[in-house]
Amino acid sequence: MGFNTELLHGTKTGDPVTGATLTPVYQSSAFFQPSAEQHEKLFHNKAAGYSYTRINNPTIAAFEERMTVLEKGVASVACASGMAAITNALLNIVGSGDEIITSTSLYGGTIDLYHDLEAFGITTIFADTNDLEDLESKITDKTRVIFAETIGNPKLDVTDIPALAGIAKRHNLPLMIDNTVATAFLVRPLELGADIVINSTSKYINGNSSAISGVITDAGRFKWDLERYPGMKDYKKFAKFAFTAKLRNGLFRNMGACMAPQTAYYNLLGMETLGLRMERACDNAMQLAAYLETIPGISVNYPGLASSPWNGVAKQLLDGRFGAILTIRVGSKERAFAIMNALTIPQIVSNIGDTKTLIVHPESTLAAHSTEQEKIDAAVFDDMIRISVGIEDIEDLKQDFTAAIQNTVG
Ligand SMILES: *Cc1c(COP(=O)(O)O)cnc(C)c1O
Repeated sequence: MGFNTELLHGTKTGDPVTGATLTPVYQSSAFFQPSAEQHEKLFHNKAAGYSYTRINNPTIAAFEERMTVLEKGVASVACASGMAAITNALLNIVGSGDEIITSTSLYGGTIDLYHDLEAFGITTIFADTNDLEDLESKITDKTRVIFAETIGNPKLDVTDIPALAGIAKRHNLPLMIDNTVATAFLVRPLELGADIVINSTSKYINGNSSAISGVITDAGRFKWDLERYPGMKDYKKFAKFAFTAKLRNGLFRNMGACMAPQTAYYNLLGMETLGLRMERACDNAMQLAAYLETIPGISVNYPGLASSPWNGVAKQLLDGRFGAILTIRVGSKERAFAIMNALTIPQIVSNIGDTKTLIVHPESTLAAHSTEQEKIDAAVFDDMIRISVGIEDIEDLKQDFTAAIQNTVG
């Protein structure tokens, strides 16, 4: 089946009892049981079913199943946000004294999280995920996971997932990939050797910016060594579901950062058009990037352009399109602000993955908590504008950018 057919028909949605074509919003905190015996079984993982929405819910389960199929995994856990998904996925396998190796060009919130984890004795070592020798040299006997993004935001570097997976495998470490910016439409990291994939579903999956959420999908193939991951002891028996079983029976239910049923419904609705939206937004981004590159005084960073250092790996790994985010540098912060204020179609928003084109000045906003070195490593410059391209008509976008750029001095 092709991408769209599988997305639409690969899992059961709707309601067989009433014939509803969409999975209803089970807006209920709890679920009654036919007997005390059944209730006991449920709590001992001896029966399937629902008891309490913080742990599971039919609308959320329908969304999780769709994400599992989309990302080619064995199981998914839906969370309250992308950050909750990352936190849950990491803390399910790392603890005090452990180390994480990650990329320097991560989403700002994730970098902040790594700093927060220091207070719990978890150390993060930053490396350039495109300098694999350097990265491998940083692995120690305390390393427990390698974390990277498919397409770094806003650096727009493309991670060579198969190469990184090779290193992870050599050292018996799980590779965790944040696939938010690329989405499964462009690449399925689990197919390329990653072990766990995270999506902030607030972005392209939801598609309309109607709710915050995130999801963890496990490939189910990592062999958890009990000396390194002692917490897996009680869950090894679940075989390929060990990671998910540990999460659901422990941290995930106890931290309580679950998805709301209404959000799962929005996501189920929005993700049906993921393929169409990505196709259009990526094509728009390619055209806009190529066009802006012809304007003197403007430099463009987009993985689809030959001028991008990551064009080669992007062509190899991504399914013929290059994402819907580009950045431009315009000479000065003043000019960046002037262009942003002069644009009439794009909205100034700290978000990506909407149907509408969104712009942001990362240096003064998203990187507000970053040190100067972190900004350099993440390729955040004060004359840079990030553009999350939407599904508008490309000629309108080109005209709007032309006018805004012409009306500001270079
Ligand atoms: C937005 C984003 C996140 C965080 O997701 P939230 O849903 O906002 O918590 C994580 N990673 C990437 C790449 C993102 O773009």
